[in-house]
Amino acid sequence: MAETAAILSPDKIVLLPEIKAGCPMADMATWEAVKKMKEELPQVVVVSYINTSAAVKSLSDYCCTSSNAVQIVQAISPEKDILFIPDQNLAQFTAQKTKRKIIPWTGYCPIHHSLSKEEVLQAKKNHPQALLLVHPECRPEVCTLADYIGSTKGIIDFASKSNHQEFIIGTEKGIIFPLLSKNPDKKFYWASERMVCPDMKLISLEKILYSLKELTPQVTVPAPLRKKSLQAINRMVEVI
Ligand code: SF4
Repeated sequence: MAETAAILSPDKIVLLPEIKAGCPMADMATWEAVKKMKEELPQVVVVSYINTSAAVKSLSDYCCTSSNAVQIVQAISPEKDILFIPDQNLAQFTAQKTKRKIIPWTGYCPIHHSLSKEEVLQAKKNHPQALLLVHPECRPEVCTLADYIGSTKGIIDFASKSNHQEFIIGTEKGIIFPLLSKNPDKKFYWASERMVCPDMKLISLEKILYSLKELTPQVTVPAPLRKKSLQAINRMVEVI
């Protein structure tokens, strides 16, 4: 994400308060592996999720987010097959919504992929009045049980607009702050207590303060790579 900010704003300072705070899912798709797959499947259109490296974006035709993946795929010519990188669950969700042939990369988010159907069924049993809201990075068998499947923003908007008062949440636990600040009187339960991303939690307030004071560590993307990666991001922006 920091690289994406640097790609979009090369003249601005982009800080990543903890340089080790990466995304294990993004790391599951390397430039070398994607390049090899493209050589094996030269006819495919490559759609890469925003959680990919700048190098992988440079090999992609379109970028997408969990909010607009369906819209991006719908904008691609129906004759074309699509290689979707890196999240297999978002790929399957998008294929189901668009009825398109999508070749999924075999990556996954360790946090969302770890949520099991059994945990969700138990949470529903514990809170029978609650609606289940999950992120499309969750497994298909979990998504099937959901009342709503959407991005972080989608989940927050759904819970805020809904007349329901209780929700089971199936995404990373950091969502609780905006959920509660917008809905202080509603009740939120976790589909699983384990949905904490260790990488996201590496960013602390202390590290942010240090980073802002010292303007370090800075994230930059070399100009030739930036130019190539920007094309996929721009194509996404043209569609949405
Ligand atoms: S929760 Fe962590 S591992 Fe999963 S997509 Fe987000 S940053 Fe990556």
